[in-house]
Amino acid sequence: MNQDQSEQKNTHPVTINEGFICEKCKKENPKATKTCRNHCKFCLYSKHVDDKVPGDRASTCLGLMEPLGIDYNSKKGYQIVYLCRKCKKRARNIAADDDDMDLITKIMQRQNIGFDF
Ligand SMILES: [Zn+2]
Ligand SMILES: [Zn+2]
Repeated sequence: MNQDQSEQKNTHPVTINEGFICEKCKKENPKATKTCRNHCKFCLYSKHVDDKVPGDRASTCLGLMEPLGIDYNSKKGYQIVYLCRKCKKRARNIAADDDDMDLITKIMQRQNIGFDF
């Protein structure tokens, strides 16, 4: 038996577009207006719920995904690059309109200083 220590499935996975309490900063995220809310707008952390396709919610990992870097794409805008703390999978999420831009800027500055990912 492999007991998962973080077995608290009282909150919905982050990918669903509805309000949720962030597991990282414990703040309440309201439902997104335009896009799917798949990460916390305050601390930008996400949760590993998707397996192969964004939104499939097929992953059994459910680890916290740390925002490691920011990519800018002229079509998609800002994308947050994530690393899952549990299984080390990398993923990208498009930043939402109401994400904390200060934090996004900070992450960009950090990666410009030579944070290699
Ligand atoms: Zn948060
Ligand atoms: Zn994971």
